[in-house]
Amino acid sequence: MIKKLGLILLLSVAVFAMDYKLKPKRISNSVYMFTGHNEIVTAKNGGNIANTYWVNTSKHWVVIDSGASYAYALQAHEAMKKIANLPIKLVINTHMHDDHWMGNSYYKELNIPLYATKLQVETFKVGGSTRILHTLNKEDAKGTKIVSIDNIITANQTLNVDGYEFEITILEKPAHTKQDIFIYMKKEKVLFSGDLLFSQRVTSIRDGSIEGSLNSLKVMHAKDVKTWANGHGKYTDLTAYNHMTSYLSDLKKLALQAVEDEVELDEFVKTADMSKYKDMKLFDRLSKANLDSAFREYEFFEEE
Ligand SMILES: [Zn+2]
Repeated sequence: MIKKLGLILLLSVAVFAMDYKLKPKRISNSVYMFTGHNEIVTAKNGGNIANTYWVNTSKHWVVIDSGASYAYALQAHEAMKKIANLPIKLVINTHMHDDHWMGNSYYKELNIPLYATKLQVETFKVGGSTRILHTLNKEDAKGTKIVSIDNIITANQTLNVDGYEFEITILEKPAHTKQDIFIYMKKEKVLFSGDLLFSQRVTSIRDGSIEGSLNSLKVMHAKDVKTWANGHGKYTDLTAYNHMTSYLSDLKKLALQAVEDEVELDEFVKTADMSKYKDMKLFDRLSKANLDSAFREYEFFEEE
């Protein structure tokens, strides 16, 4: 009876929530990607703005980021079952931004171990609310909630799943957020960067640091990478890496110059020329905020 009830509940979520139209794309021998929209979170896109990844070890799936909602995670799982109906071994969340992990609530019901940073666990209390929950339509958010994390990532570690090694590196300093990880699959030379890398759209600096982000690029680039599994945008070659290097370096250069020239913050945000990035998605929305962050970071900066 309880099993039956569970099934009915599951089906009703599948029936009434929006259809995310998720289509997995194979980006490496064993890795599949769901590509999010290059937008901010809206009710219409159901929060589906980030990329999520599934790795096939031939015995299990490993999931990197669980997506925006319960319905998203359920629909991603349905799509992946068609490729291989394997049990899911574990789910890793790359960082605390909720577009990447509100799907945890679905995996929790399946008793799949969840991994996340300490900062995420400390910031988002079980049963609390987030931007996604405020924004999504009620039917689309059904089942979506903050659930407990089973394994808090506090040190670099390697998870071995059926002979597939997932090397987790925690960055020592703030980069995209105040605590980011990236995951490297040596065997296939795939690097899951979370939001340390964006392609096609402008990043957001508000929770992190430009200097730390530039440093994260160096740390990631020291690995031998063939496939860059980014947090946002469709590219998996060096596109996102090159874009981030150039965009962040330009922000730094402009901010340092303005500080040297004794330009005021307001004036800087109004006049700094980042127009070479104007064709990137979300440029209008994020450019000024990023300039503001850049100025504040470099105002009293001393090169190490
Ligand atoms: Zn993020």
